[in-house]
Amino acid sequence: MDEAFKDIEELAKECKFSDCKHENEPWCRVRKAIEEGILDEKRLERYLRLKRETRFMESKQKRIMMVQQKNSINGKSKGYKRENHVRYEY
Ligand SMILES: [Zn+2]
Repeated sequence: MDEAFKDIEELAKECKFSDCKHENEPWCRVRKAIEEGILDEKRLERYLRLKRETRFMESKQKRIMMVQQKNSINGKSKGYKRENHVRYEY
C-alpha cells in the first residue's frame, strides 16, 4: 500500500471491523476522522479508489493464474493420452 496513505491505514486499524470499507459504516473510525476534520475526504476517496483497483487487479491476476493452471493440467493430460495412444498404435 502507498506510503502516502499511511495515516488512513492507521485510522483503518481502529475501525470496528477489519473488513470495513470506510464508506457508510457508522462505526467507521476513518469516517469519524473526516467528521472531526482530521482527514480530507478527497484523500479518502483517492485511497478507496486505489484500494479497489488493487483488489480488482489481484482478483484478475488470480483468475488468470487459475485459468493458466487449468490449461496446463488439461494440456498435460491430453499430451499424456496422446503419448499413450501413439505408443499403443505403433
Ligand atoms: Zn472504516
